[in-house]
Amino acid sequence: LDDAIAAGSRAYELDRAHVFHSWSAQAQITPMTILASEGSYVWDGEGRKLLDFSSQMVNTNIGHQHPKVVAAIAEQAAKICTIAPQHVNESRSEAARLIAERTPGDLDKVFFTNGGADAVEHAIRMARVHTGRRKVLSRYRSYHGGTELAINVTGDTRRFASDFGGESVAHFDGPFLYRSSFYAETEEQESQRALEHLERTIVLEGPATIAAIILEAIPGTPGIMVPPPGYMAGVRELCTKYGIVMIADEVMSGFGRTGKWFAIEHGATAAGPVVPDLLTFAKGVNSGYVPLGGVAIGAEIAATFADKPYPGGLTYSGHPLATASAVATINAMAEEGMVENAATIGDEIIRPTLEQFKATHPSVGDVRGEGVFFAIELVRDKETREPLAPYGGSSPAMNETIGALKKGGLLPFANYNRIHVVPPCNVSAEEAREGLAIIDEALNVADAHTV
Ligand code: PLP
Repeated sequence: LDDAIAAGSRAYELDRAHVFHSWSAQAQITPMTILASEGSYVWDGEGRKLLDFSSQMVNTNIGHQHPKVVAAIAEQAAKICTIAPQHVNESRSEAARLIAERTPGDLDKVFFTNGGADAVEHAIRMARVHTGRRKVLSRYRSYHGGTELAINVTGDTRRFASDFGGESVAHFDGPFLYRSSFYAETEEQESQRALEHLERTIVLEGPATIAAIILEAIPGTPGIMVPPPGYMAGVRELCTKYGIVMIADEVMSGFGRTGKWFAIEHGATAAGPVVPDLLTFAKGVNSGYVPLGGVAIGAEIAATFADKPYPGGLTYSGHPLATASAVATINAMAEEGMVENAATIGDEIIRPTLEQFKATHPSVGDVRGEGVFFAIELVRDKETREPLAPYGGSSPAMNETIGALKKGGLLPFANYNRIHVVPPCNVSAEEAREGLAIIDEALNVADAHTV
């Protein structure tokens, strides 16, 4: 252990000297060193064991170092490490089959990318070429990636520094009953009014100018706001009515996270499932063991590119190491019932425990989610719903709460005034209870900052 700690200490020095970190003022951060990881746990620079309730960037859906996936990567590396995208490769073909088998409706072709942002970029490009239109509508309170177009469709504060108006993007308000933009008091009102607002936005922006509407099937980073019944089906109807391509972003919500293979399955109505024209994925497709993302493509857009070349590509599209890890991940998830486990843990342990927190902790304003994809929204005042940190910011109260979680032995995913409960899909009932007990304790720190 001493050797590992010494190596970690050297890595930290080198990191601070040479590594440039995402989204950060480089001189103002003290990144956590991770020495090792296994299952639902990581070990920090001092060798302390922490329960990983972040799943890193909400991507390790099968937990850390799953032996079947580690073995599959090694096996693929010994066989063929890399091959150009124009060639046929066994791992790529099989990964595409396994994904197409799980995506809804006629989404049967897969274009592979290196991650989520470029999946979003390519989905929008497909929609633009397919429709001959340019404008994209996306939700406020959304995250779609860090590249120029993906950050411009993003509806959170991280867009502001890159928003020069050149990307032809307009934003609309989505349903979020706890902070309703529509003065709604019920989910039904919220769904109906959010759809009326979306149609108004389409009409006022000019339907003939709009190539795509992109939205997360369940918005993740912005707060895990599960769309009310009928909303996603309503978006589908509006897209069909105005000839707009519907892109469901499942980068964070896909591959078991919500207790279903894809979160859009939760949007099904009596009329049937909601089938977007394009679906973007990354993260959970292979738990991020090797960078991978992609776009699942429906029949209509696939037909557009049957005889017309698609004007885009990547050196590593369908990289064998990445797709071999996707094959092993999806098979392991299916064999070990991880999607079902995520649903059970969510329904039987996380949801009831969070509801209890809401009843007992003055700082817990709202709790919501599905599967292993839940948010705890912290407030200073339950009456006014004043958040414990402002939109786009942090606060001493939030920082102290996050500190208490880490001190208690849990690695959290936090954003603004929220703590997300996002363990791996194969988290055990015991681990889930252990993590929730640590959160329960840390919420006392947040409670001390309420009015
Ligand atoms: N879309 C959604 C919904 C995401 O949550 C993310 C990342 O968190 C992205 C896109 C971007 O993915 P990546 O960071 O792999 O580029």
